[in-house]
Amino acid sequence: MAEYANIIVDISHEKLDKTFQYRIPERLKPSLEVGMQVFVPFGARKIQGYVVELTDHPEYEVDKIKDVTGIVKKGVAIESQMIALAAWMRKNYGGTMNQALKTVLPVREKKKKLEQKTVRLALHPVEAKNQLAEYERKHSVARARLLDALLSEGELDWNVITRKLNVTGSVITAMEEAGVVKVLSRQKYRNPVEHLKQTGYDKILNEEQRNAVSEITGDYDAGIRKTYLIKGVTGSGKTEVYMELISHVQKQGRQAIVLIPEIALTYQTVMRFYNRFGDRVSIMNSRLSAGERYDQCLRAQNGEIDIVIGPRSALFTPFPDLGLIIIDEEHETSYKSETVPKYHARETAIKRAEMTGASVVLGSATPSVDSYYKAKCGEYRLLELKNRVMEKPLPVCEIVDLREELKKGNRSILSERLTEQLEDRLRRHQQTILFINRRGIAGFVSCRACGHVIKCPHCDVSLSQHNNGRMVCHYCGYEEPVPKVCPACGSKYISGFKAGTQKIEQVVKERFPQAKVLRMDMDTTRGKEGHEQILSAFANQEADILIGTQMIVKGHDFPNVTLVGVLAADMSLHIGDFHAPERTFELLTQAAGRAGRGEVPGNVVIQTYTPEHYSITTASVQDYEAFYEQEIEYRKMMYYPPVWNLLVILCASKEEQRAHDAAALLVAQIDETKELRRDRVFPIGPADAAIAKVSDVYKKVVYIKAEKYQALVGLKDMLEEYMRDNRSFSDVIVQFDFNPAGSF
Ligand code: ADP
Ligand code: ZN
Ligand code: ZN
Repeated sequence: MAEYANIIVDISHEKLDKTFQYRIPERLKPSLEVGMQVFVPFGARKIQGYVVELTDHPEYEVDKIKDVTGIVKKGVAIESQMIALAAWMRKNYGGTMNQALKTVLPVREKKKKLEQKTVRLALHPVEAKNQLAEYERKHSVARARLLDALLSEGELDWNVITRKLNVTGSVITAMEEAGVVKVLSRQKYRNPVEHLKQTGYDKILNEEQRNAVSEITGDYDAGIRKTYLIKGVTGSGKTEVYMELISHVQKQGRQAIVLIPEIALTYQTVMRFYNRFGDRVSIMNSRLSAGERYDQCLRAQNGEIDIVIGPRSALFTPFPDLGLIIIDEEHETSYKSETVPKYHARETAIKRAEMTGASVVLGSATPSVDSYYKAKCGEYRLLELKNRVMEKPLPVCEIVDLREELKKGNRSILSERLTEQLEDRLRRHQQTILFINRRGIAGFVSCRACGHVIKCPHCDVSLSQHNNGRMVCHYCGYEEPVPKVCPACGSKYISGFKAGTQKIEQVVKERFPQAKVLRMDMDTTRGKEGHEQILSAFANQEADILIGTQMIVKGHDFPNVTLVGVLAADMSLHIGDFHAPERTFELLTQAAGRAGRGEVPGNVVIQTYTPEHYSITTASVQDYEAFYEQEIEYRKMMYYPPVWNLLVILCASKEEQRAHDAAALLVAQIDETKELRRDRVFPIGPADAAIAKVSDVYKKVVYIKAEKYQALVGLKDMLEEYMRDNRSFSDVIVQFDFNPAGSF
């Protein structure tokens, strides 16, 4: 049991750094927990604070540390819950308590809050009339004007008085001091959905939807809390199910959080929730200012809203009695934080739900392999929506083998088949999306004649080409030179595979000079609205062809698109990360889903050098089960998550040697620890990170696989202890990433 408690006395971002340490007296040791509100001596006073950390390390002279005097006994404050959640995140994902607290606690508004001030008559009307006569006699024109107006209106807005009646603030104050009027001020919150109009709700759920709903509400009303995974094809009505569930908990006086990837948080989505729940719903997104976001937290805390919709960080909305957390598109990698603590919103949601007695509902058309595995193991309850609400035919999907194109002498990015189809759509004035599933930056090395991709002999991930003519494995550091001829077929067409949206735009414009082309990528979407502008231009049919990266395939509805071309499906297949097949399957199914959303059925052309790869064949027929069966076998064979767990330790330093030495020391330390070997914990590396150097900071990584997640948490604790006050780590930043979502 810990000796000391670190305490914050004021919950705000500016004050989080200011922790005070107190000793825990014996009598409190068994009951004191992180998050609890306690009494502590503070100078001559006794004040309240929150325990943020329990520790055995005294921070200053032991004799000077005072005792915690007691635990505040009242209902568990929402702050306590959030602090306890932060502690759990720190424990399970690494980083400091301060970083964890900053993630879960809202940033307090520094500016003055918006106020609505009004002025009201403080006198009885008879007295007021006498006073008015008095002002007129004294020629106090402004006072008379205000009093006269108040006699007929009773109460007036401060701004109306100062701007329209031309009565200054100081006059109002003087009248208030004289007891003639009273100034009232109410806090006004910024409300991001204020301008919307509710149109009402009239849908009746179909049988599949009703079954899913009653399964969950049945459990809920019986006091059973679980995590549910709703697997339902796009358009199967998942969102309607979510809303029905929200309504159910709302009627019981509890609140709900809906997580949606920011990119899918469109006006249409917000409107659907708003139509049903009106002002009880609010949104959080990165476009809101810190002040607006803080206001939403206050509104949530004060019971003014019951539902919040937003990306990952909306999970920390301080609802007092949270009953439900929904995570839509749960497979999205944006649910994994890229900054410390590198938490996953799914796991953290499940933890928060456990703490507050809420249910968790995950939803996706293509669930993450992680979640589906857990559902199959019985950890989550699987519910399926198999049919689209409005039956629309699936698009026809063709796979084009790019190796054959080369044999035919076609060296263009566009295959014959895709060119043909493009011509046809241009003639018929239908729209086309050309999609390049480019992820990450590292180029892999492949043969254009046979499709062979050079992989690490130890890790089964693609090697990445570096500028020095060598290929490197980002998992283990294995290296070899780029070969002159293909090791599989002897062809000389072996090289780094790289093609960008700009290149494609150029090729398309040359081949189809008559077509109007839009391009959407990082370069064309700078600025807040860039992204939306391009999408709406395309939706308004201002262009024939839209070229872009994965940004264009997520959740947008273009009814006139009848052709989707995937230019090189291999791009996401060889990203040097074990998630490659999963991401490829996901992107291809989503891309295919963009074709034929309207009346006319669509076509999909997938160009690839590896037409036989299971992620491509299964995606072309939209067969998730078949994909999953193959994928999970691969994960089992390689001991990758979700079958085992993977911890990545990142060591970063301005001096390459220091980063490397630090990483090597950690590997040595792990190797020396017997219990870890007994728990079958194996370190791999150090190796260069996928982006080995970023703004002059060198990055090295160590990978550790272990069967049990908790073994990795224990290892992290051990290493943190080892690094504490160790000078080898003084100029090195060390970060932990548990079960990372991407490559390093
Ligand atoms: P998903 O979230 O699974 O993609 P949605 O909930 O968006 O599916 O439903 C797809 C479309 O079908 C939406 O336009 C929605 O309004 C409509 N819809 C869903 N359920 C029903 C229903 N029971 N009755 C009528 N329309 C429905
Ligand atoms: Zn070859
Ligand atoms: Zn390797």
